[in-house]
Amino acid sequence: MKCAVCTRQAKGYGWFDPRLKSSHAVHDLTRWVFCSRRCQNAFSTLMNKTEGQMIDPSEMENKAMVTCLRPLGEYVGSIGMERPLASYSREEVLTLIEVVVTAYQDSMAIEHEYMAARDKAFLQDRLTVQRGPK
Ligand SMILES: [Zn+2]
Repeated sequence: MKCAVCTRQAKGYGWFDPRLKSSHAVHDLTRWVFCSRRCQNAFSTLMNKTEGQMIDPSEMENKAMVTCLRPLGEYVGSIGMERPLASYSREEVLTLIEVVVTAYQDSMAIEHEYMAARDKAFLQDRLTVQRGPK
């Protein structure tokens, strides 16, 4: 199971919609899991503010990918911008992956926290836009 916020390995932090009847079958289908209390808090605050409507995550994912560009560039610059990827050692490739994945996960967690901190009216506007005109 992966964290619903940052995709790290989930570690026993869960969330389910408290408005649903407390039958196990329903909760198993609607349960979200998280890696940490940080991700759990960000998600539950966001879900409470949006009354259970999850916002399309693709915009957050795109933003998270963009935030990887700087750390990726800094790492590649630090080991030699002119070197072809084929000349990288295994350790250098693994470090490059770690730099990118960490930046991506941090951005996803930060973005969820940021969204959760915005006011409810703004989130409801987003949901209306996402659903499109009636
Ligand atoms: Zn997480």
